[in-house]
Parts: sequence; structure tokens; C-alpha cells
Amino acid sequence: MKYISTRGNSKLNSSYEVILKGLSDDGGLYLPESFPEIEFSNEEIEKLDYIYFAKKIIGSIFDDFNKEELYSAIELAYSTFKGNIVPIKKLDNKYVIELYHGQTFAFKDFALSLLPRLISIAIKHSGLDKKILVLTATSGDTGSAALYGFKNVENTDIAVFYPTDGISEIQERQMVTLDGKNTHAIAIRGNFDDAQSSLKKIFNDVQFREYLNMKGYELSSANSINIGRLIPQTVYYFYSYYYLVKNGYIKNGEKISVSVPTGNFGNILAAYLSKKMGLPINNLICASNKNNVLTEFINRGIYNINREFFVTNSPSMDILISSNLERFLYYELGEDSEEIKFLMESLMKNGKYFIDSRRLNNIMAYYFDDDRTIDEIKKIYDEYNYLVDTHTAIGLLAAQDYEKFNKGEKILVAATASPFKFINSIAEALMMNSNDEISALNTLEEKFNISVPVEFKDLFAKDIKNKMVIEKDEIKDYIRRIIK
Ligand SMILES: *Cc1c(COP(=O)(O)O)cnc(C)c1O
Repeated sequence: MKYISTRGNSKLNSSYEVILKGLSDDGGLYLPESFPEIEFSNEEIEKLDYIYFAKKIIGSIFDDFNKEELYSAIELAYSTFKGNIVPIKKLDNKYVIELYHGQTFAFKDFALSLLPRLISIAIKHSGLDKKILVLTATSGDTGSAALYGFKNVENTDIAVFYPTDGISEIQERQMVTLDGKNTHAIAIRGNFDDAQSSLKKIFNDVQFREYLNMKGYELSSANSINIGRLIPQTVYYFYSYYYLVKNGYIKNGEKISVSVPTGNFGNILAAYLSKKMGLPINNLICASNKNNVLTEFINRGIYNINREFFVTNSPSMDILISSNLERFLYYELGEDSEEIKFLMESLMKNGKYFIDSRRLNNIMAYYFDDDRTIDEIKKIYDEYNYLVDTHTAIGLLAAQDYEKFNKGEKILVAATASPFKFINSIAEALMMNSNDEISALNTLEEKFNISVPVEFKDLFAKDIKNKMVIEKDEIKDYIRRIIK
């Protein structure tokens, strides 16, 4: 496969190169030059084997990868999942696809259990005689998924920086209790923006990068701009669609819609790319919290980050700049890289840009505040005896608003995290009187008879020996120490 950049200047790289590089030199994002048409025979649908689907779909985009190595990476990555890889729960016309049965209980495991292995293969074939140093700032789910994914992967080191403020105890414990030879999790005093902006400076620091090269390291980031993170996420949309076909809920070829709780626009973009590969999707439903930048953009054509930033109870969607939107716009605005460049420069300079929203097709957007989210968790629990996390609740709310005008259409709703991961909000919704996360988990089991995966309780049994807090101007010193 060859690749283009959304901003026009790509030298048509191979899959190995784009996975190692992440971002194109012109600042744009990589996209495959073309999309294969993916079809499944009746026999393949009848078998409905996730790993088989993954090999077929990922293998047809990364078709220049060594097949044997790619297939074995896929097998290893998804063998880390617990039981059924994508359980699906029917709630009337909505089908909740549970994307949280990986090691860290959020959908990011689908990409981050595979990407490190792809990077490792790419290093080997590109003749790069360096190790990859992955640096990532995280407000929660990316950090733990990346640490678990990169743990003990050859020729890689990973350091995750998370803020001391605004992270849940479970999320922090997932990171600091992991004991990989090549994994590091460090708290930065401050909020997520402090961690993120300090790390950005390091990526732009030419001198420091040269120093790292001299030490035998190439910098990389695990965030969702890497095409190696997006392609694996298309698989579960195909799988879920054909689950509905196999079980007689829809006819093969019938169009469905997809509701996705959205932050950086990665997961919803994967649904869009699936559609480009022939999956019969009607509308994408973009679900947001009170940080409603995307809702405003999709409905009115105004992208404006000059606004108040809210900390919400769906923190993985607390984001103002959705990087992957650039890929969606590239196609929707007619593959005009000059226009993309103009819009993105305007975003950098003025914090905003405008388009005529009628140019965006088959996408709807809705947003909901914290109170609606908590009410929805309670309502779904009361009505269906089913627990969803805050992010998923927002996806369900958006699907319900959409349904009012599209009666009878089947909707896939992406459940992006396990309810236990955001236990404080569950405690609020079910009106449990608990003082901390572990007592809330215990109450769920004792009073509500809901069994909590043992991994969550184990997190609280381990003592935190590696916890380290540094100031943001100490990051470079810290990196120097871990690579020596
Ligand atoms: C990362 C994350 C999201 C947002 O996904 P994007 O691909 O960034 O849009 C939503 N929910 C949860 C639980 C997440 O961890």
C-alpha cells in the first residue's frame, strides 16, 4: 500500500514507513492511497471469527507487511482479550458493541495491543538501527493501554506522563502497578494540558531529538494520529455488522448507523473508513459531552476552540482539538489538500475555521451534559439491568435522539469503556454511598449482585511502589535517566 498525506506532500511511503513515522513531514496525516472492497462469504459470516476478520481486513490495507509476521502479531494481540472479543448486547433497535474486554478495559486496547507489534516488525524490515522511544501524555485510557501494549516489546521503550489532577484512582493504579522492563509511568504536577504541552515542546526540540538519536533512539508517540492505530479499529465494525447479519437482525447489505462517543475522532473515523471499504453504514452519529466543539462544527460548520474547557464525568472526551477530524475533512471536502492546509493553519493561528456544513454528508452530532449522562446510566440499569459507563451512556443518548427521526433503523453503539473503570459515576447513578473507588466496587458486588472482574480488585491489592511525581520542567532529565 502507498500512502498520501492530507496536506499533499507525501512521498508515497510503504506501510512500514508510515507506521514508524506517525505524522507526515508536511504536518498532515497519512491515509491509504486507495481502499480495498472488503466482502465476506456466507461461510465466513457463519464462522464469524474475530481474528480471521482482523487478518483479512488489516492484511488488505497493510498488504506490504510480511504476512506471516502480521498474522502472528494479530493472533498475539487479540489473545490478550478476555473471553469473547466483542460481546454485543441488544437494547431494542440499538446494539451495544462492548469494546472493553482487552487488558485495560477500554476500546483503545484494540489498537494498542497490536500497534507495538507492528512497530517492532516495521523496525526490523526498515533496517532502522535504533530503538523507538514512545512518549505519551495521557489523561487516562491511552496511557494504560499503551503501557500494556508496549510492555516487553523488543526495541521499544515507553514513558507515559499523566497529570496529578483529574485522573481516577483505577486509571492511575493501572499505570503504576505495571512492571515491564521497558515501561515507565510518571505523574506530572498539574493538569492534562500541562503534561501535554510540555511533551509537545520536547517533540519540537531539535537539539534534544539529536541527543536521543546519538543515544540510539528515535522518538514516536502512541496517539491516534498513527494509521497503525486506526486500521485495527475498523475490524470491530465489520465484525459487529456481520454478527447482526448472522443472527438474523438485519439482511446482508441492509444499512445501519453507528453511534460513537467521540474525543479525538479516531474511533468514529474507523467507522467512516469501514464504510469506504464497503460496509453498509448509513449515518455516523457523533456523540459528545459538554465540550461540544464537534457538535457545533458538524451542525453549523464552525470549528472554534476559543471557548471554556469543561472537566466532565466522561473525561476521555474532554478535548478541544480532535486531530483525526482532518482525515474526515480531507474526503468530505473533495480530497483538496490545499483547502485542508488552509483550514489547519487557520486553526493554529486563530483557533478556529469555518466551512459550509452542508458539505458534510451522513454525519449527525449531539451532545449531553453530566447530569443527563448520570440519568441515562440509571435509566439503562433500571430498564435493562445493564451497566454502561459514562462515555457509552452518551453514545446511547445520541442514538436515541437520532432514532426519533430514523425509526426502525438498527444502530450500533460503541461501548468504549467498562463501567467499572469509571466507578465513581456508577456509584453516583445508583446512589451508592461510597467514599472511594474500592468501596464502590465492593458495594456493587454485595448490594447489587454485580460481579466485578478480579483485575479491578487486584489493582487495589497491589502496593504502589513505583509512583513518581515530577515537575513539568524535569521531564527531559527524567528521559535522560531512563535511556542511559
Ligand atoms: C479515548 C476514548 C474515547 C474517545 O475516542 P476517540 O477515538 O479519541 O474519539 C471515548 N471513550 C473512551 C472510554 C475513551 O477511552
